[in-house]
Amino acid sequence: MVARYNPQEIEKKWQQKWAEDRLYEVSEDDPRPKWYALTMFPYTSGDLHIGHWYAMAPSDVRARFKRMQGYNVLHPMGFDAFGLPAENAAISRGIHPFTWTMQNIDNMRRQLKSIGAIYDWSREVITCLPEYYRWTQWFFLKLYHAGLAYRGKAPVNWCPRCQTVLANEQVVGEGFCERCGAAVSRRDLEQWFFRITKYADELMQHDGIDWPERIKIMQRNWVGRSQGAEISFALDYPGVEEKEIRVFTTRPDTIFGVTFMVLAPEHPLVAKLTSPEKKTEVEDYIARSRRQTEIERLSTEKEKDGVFIGAYVVNRLNSESVPIWIADYVLMSYGTGAVMGVPAHDERDFAFAKKYNLPIKVVIAPPGWQGGELEEAYIETGTMVNSEQFNRLPSQQGIEAVSDFLKEKGYGGRATTYRLRDWLISRQRYWGAPIPMIYCPNCGIVPVPEEDLPVLLPKDAEFRPTGESPLKYCEQFVNTACPRCSAPAKRETDTMDTFMCSSWYLLRYASPHCDTAPFDADEVKYWLPVDIYTGGAEHAVMHLFYTRFFIKALRDMGLVDFGEPFTRLFNQGVMIVERQKMSKSRGNVITPDEYVSELGADAVRAYLMFIAPWEQGGEWDDRGISGISRWLNRVWKLVLEPYKMNVGAVAEGKLAEEKAQRDLQRITHQTIRKVTADLEGLRFNTMVAALMEFTNYLVRVKEMGVVTESAWNGSVDTLLLLLAPSAPHLAEELWQSTGHEYSIHNQRWPQWDEELAKDEETTLVGQVNGKLRDRIIVPASITEAEAGQLALKSPRVKAYLEGREIVNTIYVPQRLINLVVR
Ligand SMILES: [Zn+2]
Ligand SMILES: [Zn+2]
Repeated sequence: MVARYNPQEIEKKWQQKWAEDRLYEVSEDDPRPKWYALTMFPYTSGDLHIGHWYAMAPSDVRARFKRMQGYNVLHPMGFDAFGLPAENAAISRGIHPFTWTMQNIDNMRRQLKSIGAIYDWSREVITCLPEYYRWTQWFFLKLYHAGLAYRGKAPVNWCPRCQTVLANEQVVGEGFCERCGAAVSRRDLEQWFFRITKYADELMQHDGIDWPERIKIMQRNWVGRSQGAEISFALDYPGVEEKEIRVFTTRPDTIFGVTFMVLAPEHPLVAKLTSPEKKTEVEDYIARSRRQTEIERLSTEKEKDGVFIGAYVVNRLNSESVPIWIADYVLMSYGTGAVMGVPAHDERDFAFAKKYNLPIKVVIAPPGWQGGELEEAYIETGTMVNSEQFNRLPSQQGIEAVSDFLKEKGYGGRATTYRLRDWLISRQRYWGAPIPMIYCPNCGIVPVPEEDLPVLLPKDAEFRPTGESPLKYCEQFVNTACPRCSAPAKRETDTMDTFMCSSWYLLRYASPHCDTAPFDADEVKYWLPVDIYTGGAEHAVMHLFYTRFFIKALRDMGLVDFGEPFTRLFNQGVMIVERQKMSKSRGNVITPDEYVSELGADAVRAYLMFIAPWEQGGEWDDRGISGISRWLNRVWKLVLEPYKMNVGAVAEGKLAEEKAQRDLQRITHQTIRKVTADLEGLRFNTMVAALMEFTNYLVRVKEMGVVTESAWNGSVDTLLLLLAPSAPHLAEELWQSTGHEYSIHNQRWPQWDEELAKDEETTLVGQVNGKLRDRIIVPASITEAEAGQLALKSPRVKAYLEGREIVNTIYVPQRLINLVVR
């Protein structure tokens, strides 16, 4: 009698043994080729739910597979521990964010250990600890010295409920806070920015990296490069220093159709140019637009309105006077804050001109145009008309010709603009890495010297939100001495966006205990870049974008020798429950713990893979996981219950035994081939299905008892090796129970032999009305339908079918196919 499969017992036992033996600890001092498999580290929200496991279990299976293939695999784990949710949760529970975060980490680490992954826990990183954020601050200084960090006053998105500035990416829908749903308003604040726009062009390129197409498209759209021309309009007002207003357009071929210009209400020239009789109207309009968010202002539903400010610019190409308006759909933070109005060839300008009775002048002829008025804007390309020396040029040529002319005359020229803004990293919150800057009354902005890092986050600061950084009220933090002149000075009190912490954690795993630098250059050279990065697609434009910027900046500083952090990116889908996304508010969060204690981690791992293609995501179903658990129990019995040859059956003839042996060998090799290919391609669901099929086949082989014991044992060993990445505990236990050397996880991945995996062939007799017409060589496993198709293709069979109708097909497997015709 075989003991019952008891996953709780064996999983704990092996996890403990692996940890004691440091089985999964890795070093760069290893002759095997390196493989860096990284899963996005979790935010320290408290509990891991099954969605976290969905991200982590299959990626661990793949990392284990690479390890058995002979790679030196780094598959680390850590915690993204700073940030607003920790602060909010701590406030609502009345405990310190540090305490709350570290308690969560303890719980999450326990849960993560129960997965049975190959995480090398000696390399754990936690971003909120001084030994980590010291280097986050160090990177800030590096970026500052490289001219990539700067301070500027800027209108910012402000969440009145979270009391913090939000990045554009954190404003969702029609201007709501991503975290709390409150309507976002606007404020001007002195902020720190990273000059990510310097890398705009490079960030649009994804050469040499294997990333999902949709993520690449999202990143390119995020950069939003458009090519066109910058055009200078002449300005001549006494007392106004500026002699021009520049606009950007993608359609310089429409320059002769300009009938108005629109400035952003906050454009600095508005106050200087507004005529006295327009002053009140203009000021009212500006006040109204100030109350709106950028998103409201850009909303396509909103009717575009504006005010004429009583001033004009001159279109230098035709010397026409052009009235200047202000309208809130033009933003100061995009382009030059001024746009030219070409109502005949732009929908928004057309609506604006109709509303305010401004002239509409056609300069690109629509097909078949007879010179009449347009019913709507014609926005396509066409032939230039009413455009003086450029008449009759097609748009494409016109764009070039006008751009050349502008350049030649000094009125502007070709230009490129981007939708991408610089990365605003200042946060007026407590729970983040302090920005290492000092403000001195004599010296101005002074960076904290490297040797004074870390600037420690004071533990006893009040962390309730006030709209300003809580650190502002922490006197022992704020007051310091200037590092240059020793005068009393004040520290920067904002903390850094947590996306800064996660932009370099991939480097820290290479040498997590290095205390003289953020990383050891040799170890980073050995491990990086990351070979495969897996995680959710929701990080397309923030984390993944910022990390690419960061690595490119470090490359240009000579700190790393590569420019792309992640050679391959793979996004898993979302795990849903009862057709909905899991969320605390819906109350449908599934925690892995209960399933682990009932059915075992191996069952949970295998079930998560089996559910659906990983990139699609799937629906959690309790019945499904029970099926997986039954399968693992079947494997247990299959392996442990002794194999007995059925002597009577074998005695019937040597042939049956040989054939059974050959079949077993073929199916074993075919399974190795299939499982290997599926793991390479991250097709975990079909990989598990293949293992289940193989198990079922072995059950039948065992019942028949025809193959030799050594052939049987060989195939069982293969099953265990193929199962090892997916169900590491079960495989280890059975490997030991069948008398093998510890550990199965140090074994080489099984190889298949193409020759042995080949389908066996057999000769079918092809008959027409019972008469032999051909002999056809076919795979032994061929189906009746396939055999029929092959018979129809045989020229010698075909000759007897001409002009006749097939009324029946008789098929005897491995023997013959007979077509009955009339
Ligand atoms: Zn909010
Ligand atoms: Zn000073």
